[in-house]
Amino acid sequence: MTAFPNIFEPLDLGFTTLKNRVLMGSMHTGLEELKGGYKRLAAFYKARALGGVGLIVTGGVSPNFTGRLEPFAKQLSFSWQLKNHRMLTDTVHQAGSKICLQILHGGRYSYHPFNVSASAIQSPISPFKPRALSLRGISKTVNDYAKCAQLAQKAGYDGVEIMGSEGYFLNQFIAPRTNHRSDRYGGCFENRIRIVVETLRAVREKVGPEFIIIYRLSMLDFVEEGSTLDEVIQLAKGIEQAGASIINTGIGWHEARVPTIATQVPRAAFSWITSRLKSEVNLPLVATNRINTPEIAQSILASKQADLVSMARPFLADPDFLNKAEANNSHLINTCIACNQACLDHVFQRKLASCLVNPKACRETEFTLCKTSKPRTIAVVGAGPAGLSFAIEAQSLGNDVTVFERHHEIGGQFNIAKEIPGKEEFHETLRYFKAQIKRLGIQVQLNTLIDESIAEQGFDHIVFASGVRPRALTIPGIDNPKVLDYQQVLYQKKSVGERVAIIGAGGIGFDTATFLAYNCSHQHTLDHFNDEWGIDKYYRQRGALKAKEITASNKTIYLLQRKTESLGKNLGKTTGWIHRQALRHKGVVMISGADYRDINDEGLTISTEGEIKTLAVDTIVICAGQESNNELFKKLSGINNHVHIIGGAHIASEIDAKRAILEGVTLAHQFS
Ligand code: NAP
Ligand code: SF4
Repeated sequence: MTAFPNIFEPLDLGFTTLKNRVLMGSMHTGLEELKGGYKRLAAFYKARALGGVGLIVTGGVSPNFTGRLEPFAKQLSFSWQLKNHRMLTDTVHQAGSKICLQILHGGRYSYHPFNVSASAIQSPISPFKPRALSLRGISKTVNDYAKCAQLAQKAGYDGVEIMGSEGYFLNQFIAPRTNHRSDRYGGCFENRIRIVVETLRAVREKVGPEFIIIYRLSMLDFVEEGSTLDEVIQLAKGIEQAGASIINTGIGWHEARVPTIATQVPRAAFSWITSRLKSEVNLPLVATNRINTPEIAQSILASKQADLVSMARPFLADPDFLNKAEANNSHLINTCIACNQACLDHVFQRKLASCLVNPKACRETEFTLCKTSKPRTIAVVGAGPAGLSFAIEAQSLGNDVTVFERHHEIGGQFNIAKEIPGKEEFHETLRYFKAQIKRLGIQVQLNTLIDESIAEQGFDHIVFASGVRPRALTIPGIDNPKVLDYQQVLYQKKSVGERVAIIGAGGIGFDTATFLAYNCSHQHTLDHFNDEWGIDKYYRQRGALKAKEITASNKTIYLLQRKTESLGKNLGKTTGWIHRQALRHKGVVMISGADYRDINDEGLTISTEGEIKTLAVDTIVICAGQESNNELFKKLSGINNHVHIIGGAHIASEIDAKRAILEGVTLAHQFS
């Protein structure tokens, strides 16, 4: 008997039944545009279908040329385009799941000069001003949606999802922010939602009654001049009457300055808005955003906040999420930590999406789990992300791995990351590593400092994943007792004074500032999150925004770098703004172009733009990058061919967990 009965309860839609209550949310992977990418996309979906997902929604496909998000983005308007789609639908059906095509018209978010919208109002996140659609253009677009849905049906899809949220085309008609029309598609609410109702009716007419139509409804816009709660409810009723089968929840426009999916967002932070609509419509409702464990999904469903849950990134992190949950093995799930580093950040950089904790995602045809016919004994030096991911993968492939770690616990830099307020999800990755080590019977020797004698212990191979150490600086006065490095602050928890200067504003400088600014007493509750980011659960204004309620840090914190550009430019593409904004909320002073002169009993003396000043601080924390721990590797690699090096020990510059884990998994496949 599964511990998650509500997740595995089938959902009868009248004409078809979903085998469980989990929808894999739409994700663009980048495979869609690759040559031969649909074959790889089919393998990607197959793994998730075999992993137990009840209903998959594809990445967005435009119903016409102007709606394409980019000039070469996918569009479905012609019969000759169906072959690739049939490959996807056949594969998913054979694997026992269902699949819907998401129809996504970008409107003013489309990144090309032919974009269109309700009105000619440029979005703050696009350089292209849209053209306001004519009445004829609207009518043609409605027909394009219907034709696209009909083609999806011909391709074997079980349904379509019509994207009406996140500030895309239909959302742009609904909200007064972007709809300044004075004809029958603008002005009063009934006019603004007319295109949505017409689109749904046109789609239903073309596809008949036995085809799933999901409408993704923006329930919280998080922008000024967004919808009111009354309007959201009225629209939901209109969607029901117009023939939709399911309403999915959309949270936040892309231009909103409220975090909606990042790791700082508490789990299930927005299920309350889906539950508000439960008594208003009879259609099944889907809760979304930051649902990443079976426990959370079960609690949403059991408390009847929603009829289904949507998870997207958790299926990048672990395709077998649902099978593991059903078998009561949730401790073996590789949990999505909501970092965005290998998924959304990649998509926004036009790179292939994958997953930081599971680099095999979207590389299903490259990494296959074929047991080795030639098992080796392998020593791994270092139990950080690189060493552990190597060990788990190599042991899964049939090798005999022993891990040596000099500390009393496994985890390496993850033991630092998990201490940062808002990065608590790293605990889950550590739990996953521990559970897999136990399941696979990997030997781990803690408190063990490895020396040259490892070469005499009879291992076939030695893998150095010995990580990094903080870069030592040579600023005059660096030996002053008020100087600490980030490991001493974040891991050893050395005491830090009330006035602090942080040297180095990379990821770790920002993390250290966040740790100190939130004063180690961060309360990651939903109410705190809502107050800090100005989210109004009472929906008193359009867009559900309110004035932020911010408590400044009681520490004085300076965050410094030598570069003259603004701080945090190299942080994650989709999350950097959140880190910067959070530090501003706490009153952290950011200084660029700093030349470090000396450290003395008064504090830290710097010069900026030719002006010399002393920052009166009690503690100076060094976050100036890393150096590789690779001395033993260098000694042994000269005398033994079977010595390997991965992660920060190999190249310290810009090492992060994404590269460390990818290198671990990639090397392990040399032992298959
Ligand atoms: P990093 O990103 O390379 O940043 C190092 C910082 O130290 C920079 O601000 C650099 O700026 C400064 N610096 C470098 N050499 C210096 C020197 N000799 N003297 C004084 N300052 C110096 O390294 P990190 O912060 O240690 O992060 C390591 C990796 O982990 C990075 O790849 C990072 O992206 C990743 N990470 C990311 C996150 C996140 O995205 N939230 C969090 C943690 C870690 P100047 O040269 O301008 O002074
Ligand atoms: Fe989740 Fe990060 Fe993986 Fe994206 S890269 S799926 S956010 S763990």
